[in-house]
Amino acid sequence: MLPLPRLLLVLDLDETLLHASPTPLGREPDMRFEEYFVYKRPMVEAFLAEAVALFDVAVWSSADDTYVQDMVRQLAPTVPFAFVWGRSRCTYRHNLELDTYCWEKQLQKLRKKGYSLDRVLIVDDTSEKSRTNYGNAVHIPPFEGQEEDKVLAQLLTYLRPFAHVHHVRRVEKRDWLRRLSAG
Ligand SMILES: [Mg+2]
Repeated sequence: MLPLPRLLLVLDLDETLLHASPTPLGREPDMRFEEYFVYKRPMVEAFLAEAVALFDVAVWSSADDTYVQDMVRQLAPTVPFAFVWGRSRCTYRHNLELDTYCWEKQLQKLRKKGYSLDRVLIVDDTSEKSRTNYGNAVHIPPFEGQEEDKVLAQLLTYLRPFAHVHHVRRVEKRDWLRRLSAG
């Protein structure tokens, strides 16, 4: 049997890997961007190091492209990301049900890069941004600077087995954190 192609793990940036705040949080920031104080999510370096050993890893944010490139360079200068995309790769869509507008990350765009959506996961704290691909989405609680945050370690535990899953969309992902915590 042929080996499985590596799974592509697409990571959101703001409130997923870091938190950028216009005011300091009572401690020194890890990074700065223009007038923003930027805090890394706890364990982010260890998370990325193990993630790139298991999967192809990319960053896709709906923030401004310049900000995204700068932050990723500061956050993880040596991590070999498959790609780093910002808002210019998102699609501005009207959500008819909620009558809201949102920069969506439409994973169909990854087919042109040779990825099958059977082997793509997207991790985001805002489920609306991947609503057209909810079967690929792992929704996580937002990081807003909490020093005791453990979500990236829990996420890694949850994601490891997906390296061997042929059709990731068939796996129920809702409520993953509660189920993981319940053992
Ligand atoms: Mg986010």
